[in-house]
Amino acid sequence: MTQTGANDSVAEPLMMYAGAFHPAIGGETFTSTNPADGSVVARIPFGGAEDAKRAVDAAVEAFPAWSALTAAARARHLHRVADVLESRRDEIARLITREEGKPLHEAQGELQLSIDSLRWYGEEARRAYGSWIPDPLPGRRLLSVRQPVGVCGAIIPWNVPCAMIFRKAAPALAAGCTMVLKPAEATSAVALKVAEAFVEAELPAGVINFVTGKASAIGNVFLTDERIRKISFTGSTEIGRLLLKGAAEQIKRVSMELGGNAPVILFEDCDIEASIRAVAALKYLNAGQACIGANRIYVHDSIYDEVAEGLEKLATAMKVGDGTADGVRMGPLVDFKAVEKVEELVADAVKCGAQIRVGGCRMQGPDYENGSFYAPTVLTDVPASARLNREEIFGPVAALYRFTAEDEVLALANGVEYGLSAYIFTENMDRAIRVSERLETGMVGVNEIRIGAAEAPFGGVKASGLGREGGREGLDEYLETKLIAMRVKD
Ligand code: ADP
Repeated sequence: MTQTGANDSVAEPLMMYAGAFHPAIGGETFTSTNPADGSVVARIPFGGAEDAKRAVDAAVEAFPAWSALTAAARARHLHRVADVLESRRDEIARLITREEGKPLHEAQGELQLSIDSLRWYGEEARRAYGSWIPDPLPGRRLLSVRQPVGVCGAIIPWNVPCAMIFRKAAPALAAGCTMVLKPAEATSAVALKVAEAFVEAELPAGVINFVTGKASAIGNVFLTDERIRKISFTGSTEIGRLLLKGAAEQIKRVSMELGGNAPVILFEDCDIEASIRAVAALKYLNAGQACIGANRIYVHDSIYDEVAEGLEKLATAMKVGDGTADGVRMGPLVDFKAVEKVEELVADAVKCGAQIRVGGCRMQGPDYENGSFYAPTVLTDVPASARLNREEIFGPVAALYRFTAEDEVLALANGVEYGLSAYIFTENMDRAIRVSERLETGMVGVNEIRIGAAEAPFGGVKASGLGREGGREGLDEYLETKLIAMRVKD
C-alpha cells in the first residue's frame, strides 16, 4: 500500500494488477514531482513488457466471470467505487494538484466527473438493449444482442489524470470488459491512488489493472498481445497515429482522443463582457493544458480592441501560484519542457509580428522559484504565419486574430488538420445554428465553454480522433453487436 496521506511525504505506491500491489519486476523506480516547487511527490515502479503481460493475464482471467455478471451487478460494483472516491475526495484532489499542478477547485471538478462517470455508466449499461428485427423471411427470427468487446488496453495522458481513467474504465467495466491501464509518467501517483480505491471497493481481482513505467514497452504489449481486443488512447496525434498503425496488424478496435486546435469566435453581436470572461476561463483552465482549450481566438474587427483590453485586464488580475493555496486561479505548467515549448511558440509569434499585451514570460519572484510557471499571456495581431496558429499551444497564451465576415472566419476556423472543439459567441440564434452546423469539429460550445459531462459524447473529427467518450456513444465503444438468426418451426 502507499504512504500518500494528508501529509505531503514522498509516496511509494505500487502497481496494481490481479487485485494485489506489485513493485516492478525489474525493481526499478522513477520519481514524479510537484510542478509548483520541484519537490518529489512519489517514487513509482518503472515497469515494462513483463509487468504489462502479467496485468494482461489477470484481465484475461477475470473477463469470463465479469462479463457474465448481470449489468445490474456490475453497476453495484461501480457505485461502490464511486462511494470510495467520495470518501477520499480531499485526499485525491490534493494529490492531483500536487502532481499535475491544477488548482484545487479544478482537481475537485475532475473528481466529480470521475464519480459521475462511474454512476452514470453503471446505470446506462443496464440499458444496453439489443433488438428483435422484423424478418423478411418466414420461419426465421433475427435477434441482435450487445456483448462486451473483451479485454481492453487504455493509455492516458497527464493533464486530466483522474477523470481520464474513469472516462475509459467506467463504460468499459459497465459493458462487461476488463482493462489494463497505463497512466502518463508525470501523474502515475494519482493513477495508483485511484487503483487503491478499486481494491478498497472490493472490485473482483483483474477487472482493472494499472501498470506504470516504460510507455513504448507497455504500449507494445497492448498492440501485439492478441488477447487485447481494443485500445483506447488519449494523447498526442503523433502517438495516436503510431498506435493506429500498430493496431491495424491485428484489426483491434480503437478509440482515439487526440490533439485539438480549438477556434473561438467572438462575433460582433456577442455579449462582450460575458464572452471575455468565458474566453479567459477557457484559456487559462489548467494553465492552458487542455485539448479543448482556446487555441485561436478570432475576434470581429469592430470589437477587437475592447476584447483585447478586457482579456488583458483579466490576465493581469489572475492569481497564479501553487494550486493548493487559497485564491489561486492558475497553477504551473506540468514541467519545464512544457514551459520551453510555450516560450518557443511565443518567440516565433513575436518574430512574425504579434504584440505581447501582457505576460509573454515566466512568472518572476520568490513564490515561483522552483516551479514551472508561465504568466497568463495575451498576444494581439497574431499573423496566420505564426506556428501557434497551426500547433496546439498547451499553455496560458491567448492568441487573438481579427476577422470581418462570417464566411471568412469559418474558413479560417476549419482550415486546420484538427477538429476537436470550437466555441462561438453570438446573440443571433440563426447565426449560432448556422455556424455550429458548418464547423468541422466534434463539439461546439455556443456562449458556453463547459462542454463535458458524463452524459454527453466527447470527441473529435479529422486528426483529433476516432470515437466518443461520455454519453450513450461512449458505451458503444466497448460493445460489439452480434446477430443471432434462428430457424423457428411453426
Ligand atoms: P502528451 O503530449 O500529452 O504527453 P503523449 O501522446 O506523448 O501526449 O502521451 C500520452 C500517453 O501516451 C502517455 O501515457 C504516454 O506515456 C503514452 N505514450 C507515449 N509514447 C508511447 C508509445 N510509443 N506507445 C504507447 N504509449 C505511449
